[in-house]
Amino acid sequence: MEKGKDRPEPAEGRQFSESGGKDSRVAYSLENINRCKCSQCPVQADSQCAQDKLKSSEQKIKSMPAGEVPPPEDVPGIYCSTGKATCQDLDPGRQCICGTCDVWKEYNLKEGDPNNHFCHHGRAP
Ligand code: SF4
Ligand code: SF4
Repeated sequence: MEKGKDRPEPAEGRQFSESGGKDSRVAYSLENINRCKCSQCPVQADSQCAQDKLKSSEQKIKSMPAGEVPPPEDVPGIYCSTGKATCQDLDPGRQCICGTCDVWKEYNLKEGDPNNHFCHHGRAP
């Protein structure tokens, strides 16, 4: 498992619940993971690391008790909640599609800075 500098906060310091993390505006929840558009984003399209994590995280979610979620470093998305991507082979020069996402709309992420490319800039403030 990767444990790079860009890894999100330690798991024990975060709340993986509907109420969201103490330090995260966007809840790290299964509902939000399922609404996230990052899996369809051009920035990740050619990332083998992200594609592999996508497949394995989908398998993990299926095999987990209902409503439970894998640790953030295993999920290649919802970066607005968890912060920068752990995969190093993304292409942040391509267009971010967060603006099409219902999470982005619900949490009014447009108003923040950063308000896009959370995989590159870090989580929403
Ligand atoms: S706003 Fe972006 S990072 Fe956050 S859940 Fe939506 S697509 Fe994913
Ligand atoms: S945060 Fe934006 S740029 Fe990054 S993968 Fe998600 S949709 Fe694409």
